Amino acid sequence: MNFERIREKLNILADAAKYDVSCSSSGSKRTNTNKGLGDSSGMGICHSYTEDGRCISLLKILLTNHCIFDCAYCVSRKSNDIKRAGFKIQEVVDLTINFYRRNYIEGLFLSSGIFSSPDYTMERLIAVARKLRLEENFNGYIHLKSIPGCSDELMKEAGLYADRLSINIEIPTVSGLKLLAPEKDHKDFIKPMETVKNNIAIYKSEKKLLRSTPVYAPAGQSTQMIVGATGESDKDIMYSAVHYYSTYKMKRVYYSGYVPVLEDNRLPALGTEVPMLRENRLYQTDWLLRFYGFDVRELLNKDHPNLDVDIDPKLSWALRNLHLFPVDINKADKRMLARIPGLGMKSVYKILNARKYRKLNWEHLKAIGIAMNRAKYFMVCDSKDWERRDLEPQRIKSMILQSSQSKYQKMYNQQLQLF
Ligand code: SF4
Repeated sequence: MNFERIREKLNILADAAKYDVSCSSSGSKRTNTNKGLGDSSGMGICHSYTEDGRCISLLKILLTNHCIFDCAYCVSRKSNDIKRAGFKIQEVVDLTINFYRRNYIEGLFLSSGIFSSPDYTMERLIAVARKLRLEENFNGYIHLKSIPGCSDELMKEAGLYADRLSINIEIPTVSGLKLLAPEKDHKDFIKPMETVKNNIAIYKSEKKLLRSTPVYAPAGQSTQMIVGATGESDKDIMYSAVHYYSTYKMKRVYYSGYVPVLEDNRLPALGTEVPMLRENRLYQTDWLLRFYGFDVRELLNKDHPNLDVDIDPKLSWALRNLHLFPVDINKADKRMLARIPGLGMKSVYKILNARKYRKLNWEHLKAIGIAMNRAKYFMVCDSKDWERRDLEPQRIKSMILQSSQSKYQKMYNQQLQLF
């Protein structure tokens, strides 16, 4: 093995992979079988790859950054003048095994530029995973990217070796994709998602009848959307996310702020990065939809197409719906408790449990760990009201902001100071 050349490829192809945030391993239950190597079950894997070649947890690389396409938002686009490289299949297998044995990683995240054709590229990604599973008896985590436009047969095979499959929709709207990647067809993204969704369901139901049925993509599928490359509102982005969650049973949708690295008059100018806070607010909204019972139309609609930057989406919703508050902590149902700003779901369950035995007052709620600086404006309990309740939304907001110690608030203030 030519170590210098491998190191050079690693630098190029790990750097090119860093724009993909759609790797997360939660949900896989693959266990070590046959005295094999690795065990992906129960791992809270993070996935960063350091400059010096040390992988924190997942080896996150591209098979190659050669690409026949020219998507305007992508650093690997064919017209971009960058160093190119490509791994051989065996090189990725050897790197994964060697890094694993050295405890650098717990698994592999493998994506690729599209070279020759989507099927040819996908075949090579699968070949890496197949070798790892069948020849190296590797039971660690494998996340493979699905290549838009590849065949159903290949997607079927990919799920037999990979824990998670993902295809990045990249641009949240069809019109945005047309503008920035005119050679690409939206249908080519959708078809593999549909295939994966169907195969997961088929293999699951077959496994109920026949225990020896192999698992298919046990950690499900995910996708990523680039935020801020085209002019989509937060409403456009989150409505798309809801569509992918419900139609294709996505485990996760990731939101990645567009980083302008290329001059192109279709794209935001260099130096105008999407504020990290926007990404953060989208993730908070995603969380509220998946775990707190919110409907996307409550949080984003034609009157409110973008999330507030200075306050979180639940507080923003509560301030727009003050007529629903205060909520009685000792009587409200789970759904309404979950809507009180400052209450996480853990606190909600603690309240539901604790109030079986006693009526709760401020002291009990503080002991439960509720963020009282926000919650106190929106609830009553078995104590005297803490102060006047006839406050206007704007007044409540400014009082909460004044008392907030949130790191995001600090970041927001720092960003404002730049102007
Ligand atoms: S096909 Fe993928 S790798 Fe190629 S330019 Fe488009 S986004 Fe980049």
